[in-house]
Amino acid sequence: MERITQQKLAIAAVLERAECPLTPPEILARASKAVPRLGVATVYRALRSLRKEKRIVVVEIPGEAPRYETATRGHHHHFFCNDCRRVFEVPECSSKLAELAPPRFQVLDHEIILYGKCPNCQTRNGSFPDAMSADD
Ligand SMILES: [Zn+2]
Ligand SMILES: [Zn+2]
Repeated sequence: MERITQQKLAIAAVLERAECPLTPPEILARASKAVPRLGVATVYRALRSLRKEKRIVVVEIPGEAPRYETATRGHHHHFFCNDCRRVFEVPECSSKLAELAPPRFQVLDHEIILYGKCPNCQTRNGSFPDAMSADD
């Protein structure tokens, strides 16, 4: 198999298995286990190609670097942790969202990003209250 195809398959597989959307450096770190000597330029090239084939989609959080996820997950949303800046999947959706639009407006689609603290960050801040004042 051609090396670029192999690299692309490895990157697609990483995104299939990922529990959340990943940034290119995160994709590189995970795909490097399957494809040694993988470079970040190759990751970007593979991502462009996979996007063109509609196998992956971009997850854009305002002010954040673009992340990527597989296109096979269907309609869902994301939770952004303000502390660790990780993105989590939110599988739930509300059919009531279309009712938010003014009368006579037809809603075709929507995007939701929930912002807050993930369970990890809540625990960390709770058990180490002095974590922010590193004065040693
Ligand atoms: Zn967090
Ligand atoms: Zn939705």
